[in-house]
Amino acid sequence: MKRLMFAACAAMAAATAFAAYPDKPVTLVVPFAAGGPTDKVARDLGEVLRKHLNGQTVVIENVGGAGGTLGATKVARSAPDGYTLLLHHIGLATAPALYRNLPYKTLDDFEYLGMVVDVPMTLIGRPTLPANNFAELRKWIDAHKGKINLANAGLGAASHLCGLLFQQALAADMTTVPYKGTAPAMTDLMGGQVDLLCDQTTNTSVQIESGKVKGYAVTTLKPVTTPALAKLPTLDSQGLKGFNVSIWHGLYAPKGTPKAITEQINAALRAALKDPEFIRRVEAQGAVVITDARQGGAEHKKFVEAEIAKWGPAIKAAGQYAD
Ligand code: ASP
Repeated sequence: MKRLMFAACAAMAAATAFAAYPDKPVTLVVPFAAGGPTDKVARDLGEVLRKHLNGQTVVIENVGGAGGTLGATKVARSAPDGYTLLLHHIGLATAPALYRNLPYKTLDDFEYLGMVVDVPMTLIGRPTLPANNFAELRKWIDAHKGKINLANAGLGAASHLCGLLFQQALAADMTTVPYKGTAPAMTDLMGGQVDLLCDQTTNTSVQIESGKVKGYAVTTLKPVTTPALAKLPTLDSQGLKGFNVSIWHGLYAPKGTPKAITEQINAALRAALKDPEFIRRVEAQGAVVITDARQGGAEHKKFVEAEIAKWGPAIKAAGQYAD
C-alpha cells in the first residue's frame, strides 16, 4: 500500500513537472547560417510552435559549419530536457556516408519528433553569367570545364548533395566552395564571386524573382508552381532524366528527453503543420508541408533509416568523405 502511494506521488510529481513544460524559452538549433533556407523554415515554425508551447518564445540558435554536423552534435550532447531542439534536414541522413568519425549516432542519439516540410531545390547562377536558360548553361559549362566554382554549405549539406548529383549527371568536375550555410554562399553568388549554387527554394525564390541571381531549373520531378518558380523547367525535363532531389526537414530532441515532453512537442508540431499562417508562408516559398504519418516521430525515424540506405551508395561512389 505504502509502495503504491509512493508510486502514485512520484507519478503526480512528474506529471506536474511536465505540465509546466515549457516554462522558459525553448532553443531551436539550426545547423546552418542565419538567413538561409533552413533558418527561414525554423523561424516560421518557431513562430507557430510558440502558440502551442505555452506562449514560450522559440529562440533560434545558428550553429553552422561542417555541413550541419556541428549543430547536430551540439544538440545530441545537450541536456534532454526539451529546452534544446534541432531542426535539421536530409543532411542528417547523408552525413553517415560522408563523415568517417561522426561525433553522434544518427539513429541512437536523438528523439525523432516528426517531419516538417519538404523543400525543392533550384539550380541558380551569378547574375553576370551569360547563359539565360538551362540549355545555354549546359553549353557554358561544357565550354568552361575546370574553371567553374560551385558553392555549397559544406560536406553533408543539401547543396552539397545536389551539386554532387548535378556534376555526376553532367560528368562535369567543378571546384566546390564551402560556406557555413547557403545564406553566405548566396551573398557571394549575387556578388559574382562564385558561379553556381544549388539551393532550397526557401532561400532562392525571392532572389530569382528579383533578378539578383539567374534561375535555371528546379530539382524535383514536378515543376514548382509558385509565381517565382513556375517558369523554371525541371532538370529531369532538360535531359537529366530522373534527377529528383527535395529536402525534407525534421525536428529532433536529445536522446532521453522524457516521453511526456516529446509527446507535447509532437502535438505542437502537428498543430503547427495545420496552421494556415505557417502553411501560407512556407508554401509561398515553394515548400510542401508534411501531412502524412511522417508527422510522427516513429514514422519519421523509419523514413530517415531508408534515406541513409538510399543516399549512402551514391555518396560512397563519388568517393567523398571527411574525418
Ligand atoms: N540548408 C542549408 C542552409 O540553411 C544549406 C544546405 O543544406 O545546403 O544554409
